[in-house]
Amino acid sequence: MQTVIEQERGRFDQQRRRTYQIAGSLGVLMVAVDVVKQSLDHTQPLFVRLIYIANDLFLIAVSLLVIWMVTTRRGKLTTVERLMFIVFAAESLLFNGIVPPLLGQTLELRWEQTVNDDIWFLLMICTLGFHLFRHRTSVMIVTGLYGLSVVILGGQILFSMPHEPVEPGLRSLQVYGMGAIFLCFIYIVSRYRAQSQRLQIEYELMEEWAFVDMLTGLANRRRCEQELQEAIARHQRYGEPFTICLWDIDHFKQINDTYGHEGGDQVLRHLARLARNTVRSTDRVGRWGGEEFFLLLPCTHLAEAEQLAERLRLQVMNQMALDHRAVTASFGLAEYHPSDNQVSLLARADVALYEAKSAGRNRVVGAVFAPALV
Ligand code: GH3
Ligand code: MG
Ligand code: MG
Repeated sequence: MQTVIEQERGRFDQQRRRTYQIAGSLGVLMVAVDVVKQSLDHTQPLFVRLIYIANDLFLIAVSLLVIWMVTTRRGKLTTVERLMFIVFAAESLLFNGIVPPLLGQTLELRWEQTVNDDIWFLLMICTLGFHLFRHRTSVMIVTGLYGLSVVILGGQILFSMPHEPVEPGLRSLQVYGMGAIFLCFIYIVSRYRAQSQRLQIEYELMEEWAFVDMLTGLANRRRCEQELQEAIARHQRYGEPFTICLWDIDHFKQINDTYGHEGGDQVLRHLARLARNTVRSTDRVGRWGGEEFFLLLPCTHLAEAEQLAERLRLQVMNQMALDHRAVTASFGLAEYHPSDNQVSLLARADVALYEAKSAGRNRVVGAVFAPALV
């Protein structure tokens, strides 16, 4: 259950880190351009330019810190994001909102800076806010930040009204209005994405629960039957041979009686691991039920399958012992024949397993194809 969620989280973390690396690098570049612009702009008093340049250098330092933290994986990603959000939100309110009018920014200049960078910066922070905080909190925080920015702009327009034309200020307001509409869409899309991601995780979990045996982690019987049907379809379509094997732990009841149910479970888990490590990655190991297991060996004829089963039998016998008594298993194999169906194939493997048990257990028996059984 954990693995699907963790995998999904890991993927998302990786995407975020990459995004911050790219966005951070572009940000550093853009701010560096602003430093050059400020140094060349002699229309502004020197102390004003120095304040803006100092602020730009601070922004570059923060961006480089963020890039370094996400690249070297220092600290939790959410902590880095929160730090980014707080610093940039304060930065936006102060250096794009309150400070410029105090330093003599005209409405015309304000308009230019709004479309050049202020609005983009604010939208970026708000988008980060939607991602960082939960549903209602995110709406409140983003609305608060955006509303405050608009109020500051409104205040600047009001205070400038007697001295300069108000029209550039209204244009800025218009941009902020459009920005607000844009944010509404960002919000909807981010909610939609979060919801569809949740649904996908739930679906994958359900699938995992439906097809995995919880004790051993192997494919369960339903999954094995599904794969068997697929193998039959491949045989009918491409003539691809395959062999199945039903194998069963010998005297498992005694193991349970001696070591308890938990002891028996441990043996099952251990054997499942052993089988998975012994067969090829293209072979399928499943738990057929109780202490009976299933093997599906694609592109394998009976003789080759018998060799593999023999190898597994020896592994079980040599690697599993309880109080110096070896745990053993019996194996029944059947290769698919064109006149077979799922039932007849399983029946032949079952008969072979029964023969292995009757002949003294701890052995491999391959079913000879007998049309009478079909
Ligand atoms: P044989 O050699 O003929 O296969 O004998 P056996 O004792 O292995 O077979 P039998 O069918 O008599 O007993 C199977 C036992 O497996 C009985 C059942 O309680 C036990 N069993 C089935 N499922 C589980 C399980 O999930 N965990 C544990 N610990 N035991 C199980
Ligand atoms: Mg048994
Ligand atoms: Mg059994």
